[in-house]
Amino acid sequence: LTEAFLAGKEVIDKLNSHNHQAFFVGGCVRDLLLNREIGDIDIATSAAPKMVQNIFDKVIPVGIEHGTVIVRHKQQSFEVTTFRVDGKYTDQRHPDEVTFVSAVDKDLERRDFTINALAMDMNGKIIDLFGGKKDLQQKVIRTVGDGYERFTEDPLRIIRAIRFSGQLGFFIDHDTLQAMEQVKKQIKNLAKERITQEITKLFAGSYLNLGIDYLKRTEIYKNLPIIAQYPGIIHKLPKSLKPLYSFGETIALFHYIEPQVPIINWVKAWKCSNKIKQEAIQLIDALRYYQEHQIDKWLVYQLDSVYYSGFDRLISIFHPEDYPIEPTMKKLVRELPIQSKKDLALNGNHLMEIFPEAPKGPWLKNTINRLEKEVVLGRIINTKYTLKEWIRCNPPEIN
Ligand code: ATP
Ligand code: MG
Repeated sequence: LTEAFLAGKEVIDKLNSHNHQAFFVGGCVRDLLLNREIGDIDIATSAAPKMVQNIFDKVIPVGIEHGTVIVRHKQQSFEVTTFRVDGKYTDQRHPDEVTFVSAVDKDLERRDFTINALAMDMNGKIIDLFGGKKDLQQKVIRTVGDGYERFTEDPLRIIRAIRFSGQLGFFIDHDTLQAMEQVKKQIKNLAKERITQEITKLFAGSYLNLGIDYLKRTEIYKNLPIIAQYPGIIHKLPKSLKPLYSFGETIALFHYIEPQVPIINWVKAWKCSNKIKQEAIQLIDALRYYQEHQIDKWLVYQLDSVYYSGFDRLISIFHPEDYPIEPTMKKLVRELPIQSKKDLALNGNHLMEIFPEAPKGPWLKNTINRLEKEVVLGRIINTKYTLKEWIRCNPPEIN
């Protein structure tokens, strides 16, 4: 067990010692049995949120109304949720109300797939009411209970099924798949950010090609924002994609395939953050530049270094013969003569001294930009003297 699991055991132990039931549940149990790296550790308990708050020193009330608090223990975070059953999802976003229950059974029953409906006590004993262990062994995604009902209750589960297949390399059970196709039209009612979250995880999956195959075969992609209007995007996806770790990379991929759809449309339709937008814009600019110039100092200077590995992943898709390119980028960035405009030996004030007659105007910024590029590309040395000489030979158009 990892350090986090050991700390989690202590959380469960403490709840038990206060006469509450408590179990590891959901993804962490699944991933433990699969020997996969474990993400967040979720704990389900019979204790009401108030009681959990009383028992532990550091508790963050992130979703009290849904019964969830975060317990901090040994520098780790644990989502501790009171056993509950969900009410109706009339807006197809959140359940209208949740009801706390006393037994873990009901809590497991509300979960989406058998492989996600396992619980484990602090001694490692597994509670498996729906054949989740067998489905893990046989690599099958199957709904807990009737697929049609469960997908109608929350159509996001349709996309989650595909996401898990792309993450785990699992096949979707035949009946479950059929139910997905029956209910897929309701995907359009979902809150877009929920869809984005799942599709982000799908594209980051080690088996994403399997997931994409399901998207195609079931035509579920026809119910996704924008892709519904541009179905070609899915069909033009390269045959063997490598995982993309951020949705900004995925937007860049889509936009590169279908330039007709501006980045901003993706950002709006998929309710992305400004951070994702910036990432997508930077990656696309770099890809376009790369098409014409290959890798050079200007490219690595322009692209924020946090996006280098994402750029490399896109290169592996569109220019596999050039992959990997990140080592070259890292070498070039170390050799850059300047880090930003501020490092230029000449600034706007100097330019106005050189051309005392000229009025202020866009020519100043344009000239600085030209100097910046010349210096970055190593065509001129960054000293006041050489920059002045260059300007004398390449006088700006003063407007
Ligand atoms: P990951 O490793 O990606 O976090 P996960 O299984 O933990 O995978 P989450 O989305 O974090 O997935 O959800 C945690 C658990 O909550 C799931 O394992 C599942 O039991 C339950 N769950 C989450 N979303 C739903 C849903 N829409 N319907 C039913 N159960 C759900
Ligand atoms: Mg999780």
